[in-house]
Amino acid sequence: MVEETIFSKIIRREIPADILYQDELVTAFRDISPQAPTHILIIPNHLIATANDVKQSDEAALGRMMIVAARLAKEEGIDEDGYRLIMNCNKHGGQEVYHIHMHLVGGKPLGPMLSK
Ligand code: AMP
Repeated sequence: MVEETIFSKIIRREIPADILYQDELVTAFRDISPQAPTHILIIPNHLIATANDVKQSDEAALGRMMIVAARLAKEEGIDEDGYRLIMNCNKHGGQEVYHIHMHLVGGKPLGPMLSK
């Protein structure tokens, strides 16, 4: 049994978050500690702990995450200048919350992809 994280409570609106989009598959909300002018997290509504745990049955939710990322990038006005989509996995990836999430980050030049 995989343990729920704070993100499940955000999905169920049990704790406050700046939710920008929600449907039957995914939820998107602003990161509480933004690393750029736009920093949004897009997550599946059902709990998938890490990228390692993705199954065939998750395909619809994962596809929707991508669709919503593109839509929100346009709404934020960062689609033309560009942005970065990031999904961290486990310790070396720097994952802190074990409910997979796509970071949509932009609104300024983001520099090199990885810090040295
Ligand atoms: P990661 O390191 O990829 O697991 O990223 C976790 C992200 O979740 C971090 O950018 C945090 O700032 C963000 N975060 C943690 N708790 C909350 C919260 N309650 N609401 C919004 N974002 C959160």
